[in-house]
Amino acid sequence: MLQHFHWHSGDIIPHRPGKVVCVGRNYVAHAAELGNEVPEEPLLFIKPATALTALEPGFIIPVDRGEVHHETELALLVGQPLTRANTEQAAAAILGIGIALDLTLRDLQNQLKALRQPWEKAKAFDDSCPVSRWVPITAFPSWDDIAFSLQVNGEPRQSGHSSLMIWSMLELTTAISQHFTLLPGDLILTGTPAGVGPLHPGDQLTLELAQQLRIHCQVSR
Ligand code: ZN
Repeated sequence: MLQHFHWHSGDIIPHRPGKVVCVGRNYVAHAAELGNEVPEEPLLFIKPATALTALEPGFIIPVDRGEVHHETELALLVGQPLTRANTEQAAAAILGIGIALDLTLRDLQNQLKALRQPWEKAKAFDDSCPVSRWVPITAFPSWDDIAFSLQVNGEPRQSGHSSLMIWSMLELTTAISQHFTLLPGDLILTGTPAGVGPLHPGDQLTLELAQQLRIHCQVSR
């Protein structure tokens, strides 16, 4: 939880995160693997600051609530307030990129979907958002050419590329700010590519963000 969450050295802003705004179904292949339609507007949900934890050296998952799925996502760090922003304002406000897991209690989410209830219990639980340290956005010449991946116990599980997003990172940031004011320290999670699946205590993960980050971490209970 937040009290255990430290921004790593090299942090580029001192602010505490307030919320994590996430998008569902931002990659066609992932929407298809869960049998979902691609929505006409971004499907948004929020994790509170209590969901944040550090990926390194490891993080915990609940073991008494059904399957916990990994969703490997590019994360954006907001550095300036954004309300009903245009794309120029959005571009100027993003300070950093990291890699994050949108941990999801998939069995519970499916029950909630069947009951037409909100997803929060399946998405916003404590420690449901492990995040890497941040890479300055200026390290990437193009926002639309960023590759990332997850291996579990040495096996490739997910690989994504920002060019395959239905809504680009800038379109997404702009769209989010039409509904929710983003404040310095807030995070945006930009959706998962295909390949989601369960995690188990003891799993060893390797996450890569382009040539910028290569992270090893362990899942515990
Ligand atoms: Zn997700």
